[in-house]
Amino acid sequence: MSDWSHRHVLDLAAFSLEDYATVLELAQRFRAMPTSGARKLPALQGRLVTTLFFEPSTRTRSSFELAAKRLSADVQSFSPSSSSLSKGESLLDTVRTYVAMGADLLVVRHRCTGVPASLAHDLDASGERVSVLNGGDGLHSHPSQGLLDLFTLARQFAPEAPTPEALRGRRIVIVGDVLHSRVARSNLWALTACGADVVLCGPPTLLPEAFSDFVAAPPPGQSSDPVARRGSVRIERDLDQALAGADAVMTLRLQKERMTQQLLTSLEHYHRHYGLTHARLERCGASVPVLHPGPVNRGVELSGALLDDPRRSLVEEQVTNGIPVRMALLYLLAAS
Ligand code: ASP
Repeated sequence: MSDWSHRHVLDLAAFSLEDYATVLELAQRFRAMPTSGARKLPALQGRLVTTLFFEPSTRTRSSFELAAKRLSADVQSFSPSSSSLSKGESLLDTVRTYVAMGADLLVVRHRCTGVPASLAHDLDASGERVSVLNGGDGLHSHPSQGLLDLFTLARQFAPEAPTPEALRGRRIVIVGDVLHSRVARSNLWALTACGADVVLCGPPTLLPEAFSDFVAAPPPGQSSDPVARRGSVRIERDLDQALAGADAVMTLRLQKERMTQQLLTSLEHYHRHYGLTHARLERCGASVPVLHPGPVNRGVELSGALLDDPRRSLVEEQVTNGIPVRMALLYLLAAS
């Protein structure tokens, strides 16, 4: 296993190929643990993991909490509606309260881009030893989702050895509301780092042309790209064209809560042009899998029949894989 140098996990743009390999290797080991009987490892005994979700979550929060418990950590969770935020306390002061209670790892989700990174910066500046994991910030980044999607795909292509190499040269289609999706952004960094070729598909209102250059330059604040050679990214507006030759298809939720203006004609129109169905998938091979980060709008991004088809849909597998991937992240941060 390579050296792990990250104190925080904020954005996959900062991950090297070795970092992905390390996470996948550990996740595969944790995935092999029994899910009943003696299912706890002592690795994080005496550590406190605090989840601070300032935005709703079903999967990410419960998966991080379960992952922490499987590593024997203590878990504390914060709920914004019943907190002193409503009495005017600042976000940083609220977070410092949890640090003063002994939190070793903070998992932070916020609707505003950059909140986990700025908390990490402020806590580092005041000499705190706490690690921050980004549980999703605005439309910017969702690293644990990008990693669990990568793990799910790597297991699909190479069940016995799900390494980054399993993605090399694979064509992965990402279809839908790319503009508002932190999941798409994290997947773009992860998939291209592992040598996959990504085809983005969606209407211009939800997929601006600029996305074809998304991984071309390091993001603000990062002087260079830790990955020497990335796979390609291109845009294909026609879904049938995009699906031809695909190895996997990832569809994204329409993020209505982040749309500030009317960007769609109607949901029916969207489904007709960008929704996945069995008939549509006939364009690609019979075994091409479908992913979705959830929550799904049934009948909009994909049909209910496709979502429930275990031969095609990896949606439940993604949820299951979220636990070992988050165990890997907590383990690596606590150990570093
Ligand atoms: N659950 C994912 C997220 O928090 C995807 C979504 O909400 O559509 O970004």
